[in-house]
Amino acid sequence: MAVKISDEIIEQHHGGVLTLTFPRLGHSTFLKHAISTRVGGVSKGNYKSLNISYKVADERLRVEENRRILSNALEIDLEQAVHLTQVHSDKVFHLTAENRPPAGESLGEGDAVITDLPNVPIYILVADCLPILFYDQAHQAIGLAHAGWRGTVARIAVKTLDAMRTAFGTNPQEVKAVLGPAIGPCCYEVGTDVKEEFGKAFPDAEELLEQTGKSHWKLNIPEANARQLMEAGMDPDRIIRSGLCTVEHLGWFYSHRAEAGPGSPTGRFGAFMMLVK
Ligand SMILES: [Zn+2]
Repeated sequence: MAVKISDEIIEQHHGGVLTLTFPRLGHSTFLKHAISTRVGGVSKGNYKSLNISYKVADERLRVEENRRILSNALEIDLEQAVHLTQVHSDKVFHLTAENRPPAGESLGEGDAVITDLPNVPIYILVADCLPILFYDQAHQAIGLAHAGWRGTVARIAVKTLDAMRTAFGTNPQEVKAVLGPAIGPCCYEVGTDVKEEFGKAFPDAEELLEQTGKSHWKLNIPEANARQLMEAGMDPDRIIRSGLCTVEHLGWFYSHRAEAGPGSPTGRFGAFMMLVK
């Protein structure tokens, strides 16, 4: 069952599992993509319920079951899907037939992956950081980036776009991108250290930061990435903004900021892409 929740987002219900798709990104004949949610899994407590990360101290058997459930819902085998060891860097991997890792193994330490391999799913995991999904229909190529504040300062989104241009001839004016669910400017409070990093990275940083206290600001990560992508030549109309804040939609998403404490992580949801041939 599919339910349209805005012009940009469709809720896909598969049994009890909820995933989100962005119809304007690309036609399903050529591109599969989804944002998973926390709805429909078997994990408990902080991880309730569809946590798909093995690295957050959730029970392994439950994570395995969640990944089976989500694989069925997406009709993508997560165990064959290529992922990264995410480290908040600016490293972009070009996934090829030659460097594709064995099932279940990471492609390496980095925070973005691009590929033109058909029928090979790629994914990243998030819980507040911004997932960015790129689709170049002209060259039938995809990219996926993980942008927290460090990745944003390091220009991971633009570096992903640049890597697609080099590898596939991607034209920034023609590529489309989804800015997925992330902690929004409504909820993402930062201190002086992060504010200063943004001041160095963005000439218009004051437009991305709203002062809320003597040494507290609210930071707009999705807008920061959108601005970088527009400066890099992307058409603003082809930047599809989910507008979904993880903290304000805890029924759908995990939020590290809202839920995790010392020694008690929360779960992860994912962004998935696969070229269809
Ligand atoms: Zn919010």
